[in-house]
Amino acid sequence: MSIKENIDAVNKRISAAAEKSGRKREDILLLAVSKTVDIPRMNEALSAGLSEFGENKPQEINRKYYEIENVKWHQIGHLQTNKVKYIIDKVCLIHSLDSLKLAEEISKRAKAAGITMDVLIEINIAGEESKHGIAPEKAEELALEVSRLDNIRVCGLMTVAPFVEDSEENRGHFARMRKLFVDIRDKNYNNIDMRYLSMGMTNDYEVAVEEGANIVRIGTGIFGARDYSV
Ligand SMILES: *Cc1c(COP(=O)(O)O)cnc(C)c1O
Repeated sequence: MSIKENIDAVNKRISAAAEKSGRKREDILLLAVSKTVDIPRMNEALSAGLSEFGENKPQEINRKYYEIENVKWHQIGHLQTNKVKYIIDKVCLIHSLDSLKLAEEISKRAKAAGITMDVLIEINIAGEESKHGIAPEKAEELALEVSRLDNIRVCGLMTVAPFVEDSEENRGHFARMRKLFVDIRDKNYNNIDMRYLSMGMTNDYEVAVEEGANIVRIGTGIFGARDYSV
């Protein structure tokens, strides 16, 4: 299937899942995960109607940024403090905030650039050793600490759920993410704007949407298997 056909298929499935949770297709952002994907293939996705792209590596954003236009970039992978400077003026949302130290660096760099950076707090919802993100119990505390910094705004939560054979196995994790998200949102803290719940990837995005995701991050399902050798 072509990239356009893949996107059409994903869009249909998002619509169906959104309907199940009483929402509309427009309420959900399909973020195209373009790590390892070259510019011509990104252009195909752009022509098919996608304009927001997510990358893991700041270096890859930094390189591609100058090679393609009319794109909104998201930093979705783990972000080291010393890499913030490469992307601060290039991305619209950082999905992977996982420490106060990183928040302080983002705050400092955003202030120098004269912008406010939106961030999501990454949650390790299943407590996996191999995963980044903080424990769910720590999310509210970190959100409050970040809310006191200038030029950075917590806008929601993100998770990378376990890799499972049957996406139903992740339903409970997504439901707990949603509850955490709503609990913090409903406290209406100053300078915390709980708008985005970023969860669901190629293998489990329909379940994630059914449980309340409003950003899904899809790579393989759009571009096919990744080639890390290039
Ligand atoms: C690679 C990646 C994705 C997309 O994964 P697919 O299974 O290819 O859809 C989503 N989120 C993060 C953080 C990733 O690193």
